[in-house]
Amino acid sequence: MKSRYILFLLCLCSFPLQTYSQNRTSILKNVAIQHLDLSFELYDRLQKTIWRNAELGFLEVKSSELLQQHLKENGFKIESGVAGIPTAFVATYGSGGPVIGILAEFDALPGLSQDTVSFRKPLVEGGGGHGCGHNVFGIGSMAGAIAIKHWLAQTRCQGTIKLFGTPAEEGGGGKVYMAREGVFNNVDVMLDWHPGTNNFVNVGSGTAVLMVDYTFKGIAAHAANNPEKGRSALDAVEAMDFMVNMMREHVLPSTRIHYVIQDGGEAPNVVPTSAKVSYYIRSPRRDVLRSIAEWVDQAAEGAAKGTQTQVKKEIICGFYEKLDNRALSKIVQKNLEIVGGVIYDAREQHFAEEIAKVSGQDPTNICQVKEVLPLVEETLSTWSGSTDVGDVSWNVPTTTFRTSVFVPGTSLHSWQNVAVCGTTIGTKALLNAAKVFSLTAIDLYSNPKLIQNIRNEFEKKRGKNFKYTPLLGDRAPALDYRVARK
Ligand SMILES: [Zn+2]
Ligand SMILES: [Zn+2]
Repeated sequence: MKSRYILFLLCLCSFPLQTYSQNRTSILKNVAIQHLDLSFELYDRLQKTIWRNAELGFLEVKSSELLQQHLKENGFKIESGVAGIPTAFVATYGSGGPVIGILAEFDALPGLSQDTVSFRKPLVEGGGGHGCGHNVFGIGSMAGAIAIKHWLAQTRCQGTIKLFGTPAEEGGGGKVYMAREGVFNNVDVMLDWHPGTNNFVNVGSGTAVLMVDYTFKGIAAHAANNPEKGRSALDAVEAMDFMVNMMREHVLPSTRIHYVIQDGGEAPNVVPTSAKVSYYIRSPRRDVLRSIAEWVDQAAEGAAKGTQTQVKKEIICGFYEKLDNRALSKIVQKNLEIVGGVIYDAREQHFAEEIAKVSGQDPTNICQVKEVLPLVEETLSTWSGSTDVGDVSWNVPTTTFRTSVFVPGTSLHSWQNVAVCGTTIGTKALLNAAKVFSLTAIDLYSNPKLIQNIRNEFEKKRGKNFKYTPLLGDRAPALDYRVARK
C-alpha cells in the first residue's frame, strides 16, 4: 500500500524529462517493463499464431479476434467493427485525459507464405505471409498497451490508453476510414511503430498515394473476320499507359507512378470488350499528387476517346504523406535509446547470417541490430513508400519508430522477412517496441506539459485552416479488395 502511495505521488509530481536520463536501471524497473520482461513466452506464442494464420487485408478475422480477446481478458473495453470494417476495433483502458493511442496492424501479404528457414519454402503454396512483419506489429502494440495498463492500474495515475486495431494497411487503408469516421478524435497523442531492419525514429514523410482502377469497355468482334466492328478495350489501356509513360518526363523526380494490367481480354481472336489497369500514383506532397492524378485521369479519358471506348474510374484507396512531430519524436528517441537494440543469441545470430547470405547481404552488418540510430532532421521524404498512418498523423500528433525485426540489407515484403519475423528474433524486437511505448506513455502521463508542446507544434504545422479531406473521398471500405485479386 505504501509503495503504491509513493508511486501515486511520483505520478502527480510531473517530474521533468531529463530526470529519466539519469538512471536507466531505475527507469526500467517500473511495472510496465517488468510485465514485458516476464511475458516473453506469451507474446512469442501470440505473434507466431498470427504469423501462421497470415490473413490478408480486411480478412484478418482470426488475428483481430485474437488481439481483441486478449485485450478483453486484460481489462480493456472493446468496440468491434468500427468504421464499417468488421476487423477494425478500439480497445480502451483507464479514464480521463491524457488519452494516448497506439496503432496496431495485423494484415499479411499475398503469395509470401514461408517457413522459418533460410531457403524458399512456402508453408502454404500460393498462400499469404507476413512480409511486412505485421504479426509482430500487432502483438508488439498490444503488449505495449497492456504493459501501460499495468502501470496505470498500479500508480492510479489519471489517463486513458487506447489500442487501435487497424486492418488492411497493405493497400486497403483501414486507418483512412477510421480517421474519416472520427475514430481517432479525442486522442491527444498517437504512438506508432513498424518492424524494420534498424532501430530508429522514422521522421520521413513517405509519400502520399492514390490507388485508382480504370476500367475500359469496348465492343467485341471476331478479330480476323470483322475487326472493323470491334473497339478494343485493351487498346485503350495501352494508349493510356503510353500517355502516362510520356508524362514521366514532366513530373517531379520524387513522383512515382506504377501500374499493372489486371484484365487484358480473353483471347487474341476476340476483340477485348473489357480491360482494366490499376495505378498507384505517389508524391511526397498530396497537393502535387492531386494534380498528377488529374493528369492521369485526362490520359484515361483521352485514351477512351481515341479508341472509341468507355472508361470508368474507381478510387480504391488513398493515403496522406506523414506529418512528423519533432517534440514527440525526441521523447520516443530518448526512450528507444534507453531500451537499446536487439540482442541475438547464438542460434538467432546463425539464422540471421544465413538469411543475410541468401539475400546477397554482408553478414557483418548484422551487428547494426544492437544499435540505435541517432535522430535525424525531419525531411519531406526519406523513403518512397506510403502508409495509412499518414492520415492518422494529420488528425492526431503521431510518431513512428522502428525496431530491428529484419536482417539489415533485406527488403520489406520478401520471403526472407516472413521467415525472420516468425522466430524469436521478431519477439525480441516487438518487446523492445512495447517497452518504448511504455516509457513514452509514462513520460506523457507524468508530465502533461509535454503533450501541450506536442499539440502546439501539431496545430502550427497543420495550419489554422486545415480540414481533413481523405484522398479516397466518400467511398465505402473496399472490403473485398484482396478477394477480387485472388
Ligand atoms: Zn508493407
Ligand atoms: Zn507494413
